[in-house]
Amino acid sequence: EAKSAGRNRLAFFDPISQAAMAELISLEADLRQAVNYQQFELYYQAQVSADGRLLGAEALLRWPHPSRGFVSPAQFIPLAEQTGTINQIGEWVLQQACAQLNAWAHEPATAGLSLAVNLSAHQFRQKGFLSLMQQLLARTGVPTELLKLELTESALVDDVESVIGLMGELRRLGLRFSLDDFGTGYSSLAYLKRLPLDQLKIDQSFVRDLVSEPNARAIAHAVIQLGESLGLAVIAEGVETAEQRELLIGLGCHAFQGYFHARPMPAAAFAELARQWPTRAADKLGQ
Ligand code: C2E
Ligand code: MG
Ligand code: MG
Ligand code: MG
Repeated sequence: EAKSAGRNRLAFFDPISQAAMAELISLEADLRQAVNYQQFELYYQAQVSADGRLLGAEALLRWPHPSRGFVSPAQFIPLAEQTGTINQIGEWVLQQACAQLNAWAHEPATAGLSLAVNLSAHQFRQKGFLSLMQQLLARTGVPTELLKLELTESALVDDVESVIGLMGELRRLGLRFSLDDFGTGYSSLAYLKRLPLDQLKIDQSFVRDLVSEPNARAIAHAVIQLGESLGLAVIAEGVETAEQRELLIGLGCHAFQGYFHARPMPAAAFAELARQWPTRAADKLGQ
């Protein structure tokens, strides 16, 4: 009886997991194609100061799939991490970001803007990442202090000593670090103070619930104060309304990113946004 129940269970679950597996395999095959044929695109989302200056942008990866439409990075990045293609994708992103920074440098409206790039834990911890960055920066000649690497806590949890060492080397090249989705991972406050970070990024889940939930407000406030006492800049992501922005300013936050200011957009649209930005480019000095 147990045997037949086991068989029934298999018969019940198999078609579902096979369908899911087939879907994953097909998505993965498409992902490899996209890597080989460079079917990706970078979008840029504005980062804005409390006094309304355009500070820079975050580069966000887009995959315009020929038949599926835009596939969300939240869907394909984890897959790319599991299959190892993330290193190639990530290298393309970094190259593209450097080329964009150089293009920005040649236009008054965009000169001096910073660009934040997301790194997956897998990519950051791959062997040879430091020399890859060294070569890329030497080849492209970008102003390194304008390039910011966004890491999540998952990139930092194990082997903290070697992570600190690697971050130190990269910082000596002039690169900056931002800790993305802060408050959602497992950071220990004890080593947070030892990491050579420049910025904490308040996760959008806290920003979303800011107005309705005192707890979210308390967490956002704590992150802002933590940043202040550690000497780190703090930026809030996922800011969608004027009310959220005002609340965050009241809590001492100085930088914002979210649909309230601008959606992620293609490079040409972002350059146009920068040209139309109300504050003059000269005001960006000393950001
Ligand atoms: P993230 O780095 O935390 O990026 C913020 C996400 O929030 C982006 O989603 C952005 O489009 C979205 N967002 C921005 N403003 C708002 C807002 O006001 N409201 C809401 N609801 N959402 C907002 P996206 O572009 O789908 O990216 C999702 C995640 O995928 C990113 O989260 C990041 O972890 C990852 N990702 C994106 N591009 C790359 C990349 O080039 N490399 C790696 N390794 N990961 C990437
Ligand atoms: Mg990010
Ligand atoms: Mg984030
Ligand atoms: Mg996120």
